[in-house]
Amino acid sequence: MRPEAPRRADDTLTAWLTAPCGLMITSPSGEVVAANQRLHDWLGVPALAGEALEDWLTASARTLLHWHVVAQLEQAGQAEEVHLALKTAGGGEIPVLCGIERRGAAGQAQWHWALMPIRRKSRLERELIQARRTTERALQDKVAAVAELEALKTDLEAHRRELLEQNRHLEHWAYSDALTRLKNRRAFNETLAAWLKEAEDGESAPLTLALMDIDHFKAINDRHGHPEGDRILEQLAGLMRATFRDHDAIFRVGGEEFAVLLPEADARQACSAMERLRRTVAAHAWSIDADVTLSVGLADRQAHDGFDSLFVRADHALYRAKRHGRNRIECHDSPPDSCSGHSER
Ligand code: GH3
Ligand code: MG
Ligand code: MG
Repeated sequence: MRPEAPRRADDTLTAWLTAPCGLMITSPSGEVVAANQRLHDWLGVPALAGEALEDWLTASARTLLHWHVVAQLEQAGQAEEVHLALKTAGGGEIPVLCGIERRGAAGQAQWHWALMPIRRKSRLERELIQARRTTERALQDKVAAVAELEALKTDLEAHRRELLEQNRHLEHWAYSDALTRLKNRRAFNETLAAWLKEAEDGESAPLTLALMDIDHFKAINDRHGHPEGDRILEQLAGLMRATFRDHDAIFRVGGEEFAVLLPEADARQACSAMERLRRTVAAHAWSIDADVTLSVGLADRQAHDGFDSLFVRADHALYRAKRHGRNRIECHDSPPDSCSGHSER
């Protein structure tokens, strides 16, 4: 007698029915033959036997079953790790991982299913996909922000250049005389102060200051009119530019008053440069019939000369040139022979 046998069969059936995964047997045509309790619970249906499996699958699961799983079961007798989604009676979906095996002789074959829910895995996958999308969006945002920043930087650089350009213009106008386009009084003050400072700090190369004033310019204005006077000032500036070296600095320091700074020129060299200009001006064919002559006062830089002391000496020399008859050059300290008393044309 073998009394245990029926009990073991019962136990096996109970185990099958209450297994912690979905178990099911279907016919090859897709009719449910039997299903365990767990599967009934998941789907929320009292009896699955006799139902068409298709009715409990989502549309994509149905497609996968027909095009992939059926063929594999027929050819290989089993299909592993098949992802399907079940539809529940309540309208929900349960993603499941299935292992399916064909059992039984041809003509009586059945499909045995084991199904594991993969809700957590699916949720994790969804979350991963979402996280990847979020990361991608953040990356795109970052790329766009960097591009925007680059554009702003380019704009800023353009504005900076524009500002620099405007500053250069402003500076040019602040230091220029509009009529003659020579440098103005402010430029003269700053240049002489800077050059004297340089000489103080370093080696003392010679530097001569020439102050120059048009003779009887008021009379020229009175006779020919102010606009003609202006034209003479413009033309005189042109003659000065043509006379002096590039590193000499020419300024219009007052109405008909000019200053020339001659670096690396002692009184004698400066005097001959000024004499060249004086002769050129006196002999020039002006646009009006006018005698235009210049008086010039020179002073060369002495040790410990400051702005005022050098300027005053040159101004005194100019005053002397006026007093001695105009159209002449006077040098303040030790006038070189060639530097005084010029009145011939
Ligand atoms: P001096 O030989 O003593 O220097 O006589 P001057 O007539 O040149 O001197 P004064 O200082 O009496 O007159 C300077 C004149 O220069 C008076 C003014 O009308 C003229 N002047 C000053 N600035 C300008 C200007 O921008 N344009 C014109 N056309 N004339 C000017
Ligand atoms: Mg004057
Ligand atoms: Mg004058």
